[in-house]
Amino acid sequence: MDKSEVKKWVDANMERLLSEYGVPHWEVDVVFLQADESDLYGQCHTSPRYERATIELNCPKFKTLEKLEKTLRHEICHILHAPFNWYAIAVEDALRKLNGMEPLIASLDTVFDTACELTAKNLERMHHGHKEAYKRKR
Ligand SMILES: [Zn+2]
Repeated sequence: MDKSEVKKWVDANMERLLSEYGVPHWEVDVVFLQADESDLYGQCHTSPRYERATIELNCPKFKTLEKLEKTLRHEICHILHAPFNWYAIAVEDALRKLNGMEPLIASLDTVFDTACELTAKNLERMHHGHKEAYKRKR
């Protein structure tokens, strides 16, 4: 998809999606990448203290609106667990004050990134299950 298609869909749906996930008060900037230089469909950077996030979307990777929506929902799930970033930052800051901790910092960074991805996926599944249960009740 080209940038204008992706932007049009995001502009039309972002507010609704942020509300669905309980974070309509967050200020979220979306960056529309135009070069297919990454394997990632999207990425989310958060500042939980200020309830701000930047979501990068790799426009050329999206072949369907369904994949775009699934990716955007996933990136919004990263906003939900963002408060845990404080813990990771505090641990890293503490370890950087000691000598020779780079290997441990690198290992913990990998563990933290993996935990973030698994948490985002769990939140996606939980939200999907919640939506399905709501549909069945109606
Ligand atoms: Zn992710």
